Amino acid sequence: MRLLPALVLLAATSALAQSPRPNPAAPPTAYVGGQWWDGERFEPRDTVWAEGGVFADRPARAERVVDLAGRFVVPPFGDAHTHMLSDAYQGPGQAERFVEDGVFYALVLTDRHSWAAQVMDQFDGPGSVDVAYSHGGFTSPRSHPVQVYEWQALRYVGRDLTDAMKREIHESRLAEDDAYFEVPTLADLDAKWAAFLSHEPDVVKVYLMDVAGEAEARSGMTGLASGRGLTPEVLREVVRRAHDAGLRVFAHVGTAADVVLAVESGVDGFAHLPGRREGDDEIERSLLSDAVIEASGERGLVYVPTSVWSDVYNADRPARRVFARDLHRRTLRRLHDAGARVAIGTDQWNRTAAAEAAFFASNEFFDLPTVLDLWTRVTPEVVFPGRAIGRLAPGHEASLLALACDPTADWSCTAQIAHREKQGQPLGGTDAAAARR
Ligand SMILES: [Zn+2]
Repeated sequence: MRLLPALVLLAATSALAQSPRPNPAAPPTAYVGGQWWDGERFEPRDTVWAEGGVFADRPARAERVVDLAGRFVVPPFGDAHTHMLSDAYQGPGQAERFVEDGVFYALVLTDRHSWAAQVMDQFDGPGSVDVAYSHGGFTSPRSHPVQVYEWQALRYVGRDLTDAMKREIHESRLAEDDAYFEVPTLADLDAKWAAFLSHEPDVVKVYLMDVAGEAEARSGMTGLASGRGLTPEVLREVVRRAHDAGLRVFAHVGTAADVVLAVESGVDGFAHLPGRREGDDEIERSLLSDAVIEASGERGLVYVPTSVWSDVYNADRPARRVFARDLHRRTLRRLHDAGARVAIGTDQWNRTAAAEAAFFASNEFFDLPTVLDLWTRVTPEVVFPGRAIGRLAPGHEASLLALACDPTADWSCTAQIAHREKQGQPLGGTDAAAARR
């Protein structure tokens, strides 16, 4: 009950705090002849205006006219959990893939800062996608994601790992305090926090791996002894420091117990949802309690379930695939109904959020208009909470995708993008790109 006045205040101020990023180079533009998404349905509109890259409600003298030719106009999509767009190592063409898929806003939930620094300047502004970064993550010694980043640093990606290589990964420290920060104690956090902040992160990523587990934790990559992530004491202090710095905290979680600890510790969002794998006790380990669902709704917590992983983990186990999908469908509907924010992110190499959105749609996690709302409004707002994006309305950034057909009737229409605009100017290919698909 004591939370209520604070929540009301937050709601009021967050509405005021949302502002568009202007693009003075964008000419006054008239968009004509489209069917425009209003958050619930498509409505034909004669003319929609933009000036300086922002939708305007009064007519301006148009220097440019964009004929949308009856197409279905939606805000650009978001990706709330990726590791792409954060290094040159994965090769060129990553931003082009995001543009092609219509995904203009991306949240990188752990990257190696020194590698991201080499590429991130390319990804900002009207001419490209916009990316927010966590610049590393906080975990316990030799725990996820340490092995992943040392595997990359040692250039072992794509190679069969021998026992000697696994031991080398285990001992390596090439990406320490760059991709991950090992903070077993408050003293370690105190020693590393300033260096982390100096990387100018947009969000904070923390790692919890089966905090209530009883068997010894082991790395999935090396099979060697691993840890379970942050202790409750350190987690609470990370959240306190992050909030003091105006940063949101996203938690990697594997079990319902991890979620309980994270909610109690004040985190803002979840980088996964338990239940992607299945074991004998998976329901017990993965089912969120009514109390957690209710608290998540009251606080508007963000869940990025990365559900499409369950098909990868369970590729050869159809029954487990169905189990994981059904569990995620039930849990996400409970969260959404309670007022939590469900966002779309794929968390896979070389796949944008289009994969996760299609997974939501094809498995009927929600009806298609709701999935479209999650992908075009909720997810962009999660990636950039301060920006007026995600709505085709005056005062919001004039960014849009013109789809060849109605995505609320056939989800594959989300991939038939005939025209893309970002902040009042064209981005990427037009009809030719759509025809290539
Ligand atoms: Zn991830």
